[in-house]
Amino acid sequence: MEKTSVKAVYQQILNRLQSAVGAEEASPQAYWLLEGLFGKKRMDVIMDAPLQLVPEAKEQLEDVLRRLEKGEPIQYVLGEAPFYGRSFKVNRAVLIPRPETEELVQLICGQYGSKQDLKLLDIGTGSGCIATTLALELPGPKVYAIDVSADALLLAEENARRLGAEAEFIECNILEDYPTTLPSLDIIVSNPPYVMRKEASLMKANVLDWEPAVALFVEDEDPLLFYRCIACLARKQLKKGGRLYFEINESCGKEVVEMLEKQGFSDIAIHQDLQGKPRMVEARWRE
Ligand code: GLN
Repeated sequence: MEKTSVKAVYQQILNRLQSAVGAEEASPQAYWLLEGLFGKKRMDVIMDAPLQLVPEAKEQLEDVLRRLEKGEPIQYVLGEAPFYGRSFKVNRAVLIPRPETEELVQLICGQYGSKQDLKLLDIGTGSGCIATTLALELPGPKVYAIDVSADALLLAEENARRLGAEAEFIECNILEDYPTTLPSLDIIVSNPPYVMRKEASLMKANVLDWEPAVALFVEDEDPLLFYRCIACLARKQLKKGGRLYFEINESCGKEVVEMLEKQGFSDIAIHQDLQGKPRMVEARWRE
């Protein structure tokens, strides 16, 4: 039967998605597809606006539904994800930005608000969502961002360019090296890999099968590997009184705090995310 309205297409999508992504996710994802593919909003569904899909549009929709039925996250299928009120391009080289990471950005914006001339570094930038958002939210900071993945950096650069943010992107494996060109910094922020291999069995298939393992996992024997390494770098690069911000595994808060104390940081605080889990740590390099 020919579908002729937004509501009819919505219902058609909903039917297919219910078995693919479950009852709860089906409706929000159906709206997301209508908007992402055809620029139709929720109100167009309610108003039952006319929508005639040309054969290419039908093919495109079919292709998208098949990918979703295989379990691919909708953000990769549409190639975009929201973060802090903006849309970031994403692909399988980068993690899909998470709401917890928006909270990390909010923590920094809340503390630095209108401070001018900040210099900051984002380590493991992925899609560049932290670096680009801070570049746009803070008043004209100098932003540097590092990643080990050249593919991630290409995307991060594209996101910064599209959104009009100034940032310098540097390819570097911080476990082996660090860029010698960096100036003294006010802020270092990182959401490094922090999921332990043994936690993989608790994760959803759409994360495990699709998102880049290099951005997610650390070995069970050394879950603090990246945090230690970044703290060492921070000791050299932070100005006196500069701050370090981490997103952390909820089970590692105490260990991260102890490590930072041992390395000489002060004013160390753990912050909870909106789910009430210890998710962010901040620390200050001694005055
Ligand atoms: N929060 C992410 C997840 O739950 C993990 C992010 C990370 O390892 N840095 O999958």
